[in-house]
Amino acid sequence: MNLELVNKIGPRTVKTLNKLNIFTVEDLLNYYPYKYNFIHIMPIEEVKDDVLVYVRAIVFSDAKVQYIKRNFNRLNFVANSGNQNFKVTIFNRAFLKQHLVVNKEILLIGKYNQVKNTFVANDIKFNVFSDRIEPIYHLTEGVKNGVLSNYIEDALKLNCPIDDFVPEDINLKYNLISKMEALQFIHQPRTVEEVKKAKLKLIYEELFVYMFKIHYLKLLNKKSLGLEKTFLEDKVQDFLSFLPFKLTEDQLLAINDILNDIKSPKRMNRLVLGDVGSGKTIIAIVAILANYLAGYQSTFMAPTEILAKQHYESVNNYFKDYGIRIVLLTGIMSKKAKEKVYEDIKQRKIDLVIGTHALLNEKLEFANLGLVITDEQHRFGVNQRNLLQNKGKVGEVDVIYLSATPIPRTYALTIYGDLDISNVKTKPKMRKEVITRVKSEKEITDVLKAMYEELCLGHQVFVVSPLIETNEELDLNSVNGLKEKMTVAFSGKMRIEVLHGKLKQKEKDELMEEFQKGDIKILISTTVIEVGIDIPNATMMVIFNAERFGLATLHQLRGRVGRNDLQSYCYLVSNTNDNARLKVMEESTDGFYISEKDFELRGQGDLFGIKQSGDMIFKIADLRHDMKILMQAKEDAEKFIADEVYKENALYKNIIDEINFLD
Ligand code: ADP
Ligand code: MG
Repeated sequence: MNLELVNKIGPRTVKTLNKLNIFTVEDLLNYYPYKYNFIHIMPIEEVKDDVLVYVRAIVFSDAKVQYIKRNFNRLNFVANSGNQNFKVTIFNRAFLKQHLVVNKEILLIGKYNQVKNTFVANDIKFNVFSDRIEPIYHLTEGVKNGVLSNYIEDALKLNCPIDDFVPEDINLKYNLISKMEALQFIHQPRTVEEVKKAKLKLIYEELFVYMFKIHYLKLLNKKSLGLEKTFLEDKVQDFLSFLPFKLTEDQLLAINDILNDIKSPKRMNRLVLGDVGSGKTIIAIVAILANYLAGYQSTFMAPTEILAKQHYESVNNYFKDYGIRIVLLTGIMSKKAKEKVYEDIKQRKIDLVIGTHALLNEKLEFANLGLVITDEQHRFGVNQRNLLQNKGKVGEVDVIYLSATPIPRTYALTIYGDLDISNVKTKPKMRKEVITRVKSEKEITDVLKAMYEELCLGHQVFVVSPLIETNEELDLNSVNGLKEKMTVAFSGKMRIEVLHGKLKQKEKDELMEEFQKGDIKILISTTVIEVGIDIPNATMMVIFNAERFGLATLHQLRGRVGRNDLQSYCYLVSNTNDNARLKVMEESTDGFYISEKDFELRGQGDLFGIKQSGDMIFKIADLRHDMKILMQAKEDAEKFIADEVYKENALYKNIIDEINFLD
């Protein structure tokens, strides 16, 4: 249904909403809040110090604005609640002055200090005066929370037909509410109970659809016959014996699994699951070699330009004596260059194409594709699983996924139920463990000294911080703030640059390249550097506000250093007292151990690296909490598919179609 059917939504708003991936009324209704504010209004006399509260009050004196420095002001006035007058301060809301007329009723949100008789407000509202549950949405520039909430309220009234993907008998079995009711409750709950009911339904539905896809793929793989490929195994053994290092036991086992798959009449559909730095790339390279020797083309897809380029370089290096014709295909290449690549691949002048999402372009056709490898598989969605392999002839294409998500085996078997799994647990031995220290912000000079020592040795340093710009309300370090501080600390002698997701792809690539070359000494970034890059000369990782990150993320970040035999270090800077979680990082560099500890300590973990995980981009389900529901959905989906009723139902045909198209 067209968005403009919703009250007050015009073409401009549509554009803004598009930025949130909302294109239809259905999308709008499926745009769930990520949390709720429970507004419980209380009189000022009952307020305890330093707790976030909602207080209903009346403006008692005109508001005055004080300009403190550029972009920084405060607004002061006196308010009255019950029999009590008190001061109110709010920062950076000078624009509210005109609304704060004497005797006007307002709702203050913030903290009160009794001694100073002052209320420091985070926000002031003018239209809410009763207890309620307020949904909070992720926003983008140009749309405020209240406005979005109103659009959704109107959209709910349109009675737009909404698909419920949970089969009726399952709805009954678990007492799930209807989809429409769930949407009503998720956006406009009157009670906590309603939120719970809505969440249960929507989470179950999401996981059911996910497991339906996985089982469908599994079935498809079972049915699809493969090809017995033959190649000279001696040549592969030869290649292995000339590697500059000794392969670990698990690497050898994974390679063995893969070579067997290639030879067998079954189509390979294998996930190589191994921690950061466990050496998955070389496993992929051996697979490419075998596939090449069997006479087929290969493709190797990575989630970022930087990583694709790095693979391109190292693959070229490994294959320099093999006459394998390799090409790089990425989105930033000119149209002409891309077309040349398409042509060469079609003409079978190329044996291996390495690239990014650009490989999914429909213009790319192969002469005889035999192997598809996806690196950092967890960055791509499940819907993309089939896309690349569909570029080959039926049955000819073997598929390998590489992933660094350390998850316990039972979970892996569920989430990746359609794949065979090779685990790479052991890490290359010669490598020195990264020495990890947790430091408070007070000890920052220790960290700077340690950085200085590494820099003097000619090494480089990664610095990571959660934010791009400094934010007055959140007491967090930002990449730009840190650049200023570090420039001062190192007297401007070291070249320091900043990298974050808002930069253009070209700028990011240039910065990475200069860092790789060693021109940049300190690279300060947000978590965008998280994925797979290899910069051997970078020996130190300093993470600010480390408490803000999950252990899985910290582990991935730390994996950027210690990738050769130089001693490497990781400093976790935090200003909270509760560092038990961070201490786990001091204890171990084993991703599986860390993810398990994370579970123990928090009763949950972020082992799935929720944010960056393509398969796990769930709108509402959170596998940290919803594992039980996932297991249930797995069982139900299995049965549902076995019964084959889905085949007559258009709803599920659509889901199946989705698997084969880009999302
Ligand atoms: P990941 O599993 O995180 O993708 P990589 O494949 O990038 O890890 O390997 C990390 C580094 O370890 C690379 O520089 C690679 O050359 C090296 N490496 C891989 N296997 C071994 C091994 N068996 N012994 C020593 N070094 C290895
Ligand atoms: Mg890798």
